[in-house]
Order: sequence, then structure tokens, then C-alpha cells
Amino acid sequence: MKTDRRKFLKSIAGLSSLAASAVPGASLAKSSAKSSAGISSTQIQDIRLSKNKGYLRLVFDLNGNADHSVFALHEPERVVIDLKKTKMPHGMVDRLQANSLIRSIRSGVQNKNDLRVVFDLSESVTPRSFLLAPSGKSGYRLVIDLHDSKKAAKVTKSPKRDVIIAIDAGHGGRDPGATGRSGTHEKTITLQIAKRLEKYINKQRGMKAVLTRKNDRFLRLRDRIHKARDSHADLMISLHADSFPDPRARGSSIYALSVDGASSETARMLAEKENAADLLFGDVDFAVEDKMVKEVLFDLSLTGTIESSLDIGGEILGQIKTVNRVHKKKVQQAGFAVLKAPNIPSVLLETAFISNPREEKNLLSTSYQQKVAKAITRGVNKYFARKAPPGTWLAASEGEYSVNNGDDVKTIAKNNNVKEEDLRARNALYADNLKAGQVIKIPVS
Ligand SMILES: [Zn+2]
Repeated sequence: MKTDRRKFLKSIAGLSSLAASAVPGASLAKSSAKSSAGISSTQIQDIRLSKNKGYLRLVFDLNGNADHSVFALHEPERVVIDLKKTKMPHGMVDRLQANSLIRSIRSGVQNKNDLRVVFDLSESVTPRSFLLAPSGKSGYRLVIDLHDSKKAAKVTKSPKRDVIIAIDAGHGGRDPGATGRSGTHEKTITLQIAKRLEKYINKQRGMKAVLTRKNDRFLRLRDRIHKARDSHADLMISLHADSFPDPRARGSSIYALSVDGASSETARMLAEKENAADLLFGDVDFAVEDKMVKEVLFDLSLTGTIESSLDIGGEILGQIKTVNRVHKKKVQQAGFAVLKAPNIPSVLLETAFISNPREEKNLLSTSYQQKVAKAITRGVNKYFARKAPPGTWLAASEGEYSVNNGDDVKTIAKNNNVKEEDLRARNALYADNLKAGQVIKIPVS
């Protein structure tokens, strides 16, 4: 009879380890009833301890996602772990061995369904926690690292480098670029947008902007590439404004390099026009330039740099769409000389048509320039949140967190001891549009 009842409870609650547990009868019945009504609870299947240099790691093996919070209390020193709608088999904490840091472990049920586990400690710690989503043979794991408070202060400085974004304001000096109906020079607005973009990029944790030119001066296309290469840029964005004899032409477009022909006649002509800067205003040795270009193209096709450029371009295009009409849904390709930096993904953005009177007015306005700069920043951030180069702050994470229903960025940041803006930067979270089950990275401090 008793076995049957257990089997029954097991089947309706879906909790495999319930049979082995000795949860008091009343609460067991209650949780089972709730489970059958659709409110499920998570079960702790194991708790593991491991000693590491500078910290003690606690791992809670769970059979599902759990909303959790971890905090330290002082005098006496304690770490408290709260898990919503979670159960733990009776006696599990008794199996854990006390050690030099952990004096004793207690647990209790709160609000009928929530679990609280308290670790009484011999010294002050700084806890860091993160929830790992299932991977391979492992299920959900709540990982809590107890760092020695005295040492924790030292390890907060991160040695991880920033992602470097080279911003290239098109034209400059004796090369004015295109000129609008009311006399606006392309070189002027590209520099203004470049400076706004620099500001937004530098506000992003883990990113640093470098300008190829900071004032109104002429730079050969090759020098722009060298500047990007010398600053170890991870991306180069060249800013321009389009022009066309018909003043009605309008909209934005984005380009990557092509190794075998342009994606359209328009793209080919545009590349020719932008490349003409060196022919018209520079002093180029064609033979040398040609040889360099050939080597570069070979290199680019090998390393997938163009593929990355198309990927980044796509992210920027997706954001620019919210600011201005775009010509093509995809990133266009042509032989732009300025995009030939070896191993540096590069894109060229035609922000709008300076030859269109309304767009010329837009290009001159602070608000439009800011909108464009913000859109580019979002696109760049979205790309690097996915594909940051190894060794950068953006590529590093302490762990992953699987989003629960009702979570918000602020709370996740607080529970994981990270700054909200860092969590947003690391995951390119721009609105509170978290979805349950979405896995986000917990940044390193
Ligand atoms: Zn241009």
C-alpha cells in the first residue's frame, strides 16, 4: 500500500528522488497536490563541495531551473542560499562534511515551498553564484563560490582586454567627399558621427574606440588601414554619406569587401567613387598598391574575415533599419579599398544621402547623428556579445544563467553580484525583454 502511494506520488510529481526522501508527510502531500495542479518544484539531487585556490565551491545539482538568491551575513559569518519552489531530501546537508571554513549547515522551508540553506562560516566570504544550464550529462547546477573576502578585493581587477573598434570618418582635409545641396560636406558629418560613435562605444564596458582621424585632415585609404592595424582593431567601421544626381535618392546601406566582383552595379560604382579619394587627392604608386591588394585578398579569403564583416554588417543593418530606410535587406559587397585591412573585419556605412535635401538636413542634426551612432553601437555590441575575440572581457564569463519567468535584468545582476550595465553589455541586453529559458552569460568583474 505504502509502495503504491509512493509510486503514485512519483508519477504525478515527476520527482525521481522523492521515494528516497523523508519529507514530512503533510508537506509532501501538499507539494504533490500542487504539482498535479501545474506548479512544479525543483529538487536538489546532490550538493558537492570542492576546495580551490582562494575559494570554496559549492555545487547544487538540480533537476530543473531554480530562482535563487545568495547573500552573506556577518557577525556571525553566514552565507544564505534561497531557492524558490525547491525541495531538498531530508538529511542531505548532514552528509556534507564540515571543514575549516564551514562550521555547520542548516536548512529550512520558507513560504511553504521555498528552501533556505544556511552555511555557518568561520570567516567572512564574498559569495558569487551562477546557474549553469544543462549540458552533456550534467543537469542544472547552481554554483556558489565562496571567496575569501580579504583576497576577493584583489581579484576584482580584470586583466581582460577591451574589444577595439576603429572608427573611420570618411574623407577629410582637401578631400571633402560628396557635397549636399546646401553645401554640407560629407567629411564634416562623417567626423561628427564618428565622434558620437566613439563616445557611445567607450561607454560600453569591454569596448574601446579608436578614431582614424580626429580632425579635418586628409588621410590616404592605406593610412586608415594602417591606423586600424596599429591599434589592433577587432573591427573597422568606415562612415560615409551617399550622393546621387537625382535628389530623391535616399536611405542607408552597408557594405563589406568582395573578392570576386560586386553584388550589384550600384555597389561597384560606389566602391569606385569611394576609392577615387586616393586617385584624386593622394599620391599612389599603383604597382605597389596592386601587389598589396592581391596579397590582402588572398589573406582575407582564407581567414573568413569577410564572413565576419558580413555578420557584423548584418547586425548593424538590423539596427540602422530602426533609424532610416535601408536600400537592401542584406549587406552589399564591392571592392572598397578602405575595407582591405588584413584580418580586421571591416564595414562601410553610407549613413544617408547627402544629395537628398531632407537627408542632408537629417545628417546635420544632432538627434539623427546620435540615433545613427547608437544604432551602430547596438549592432556592434550584438555581434561581439556572440563572437568576442578570445582574451577580451566580452568573451569571458563566470557562468551562465537560465532566465526564469518574471526575471528582470536588475535582479539577475544583483543575485550574481555583477553590475547591471555589465550584464547588459556582456549580453547586448537593450530592453527588459528577457524570455524564460533564455541563457545569458554572467560577466567577469
Ligand atoms: Zn564617402
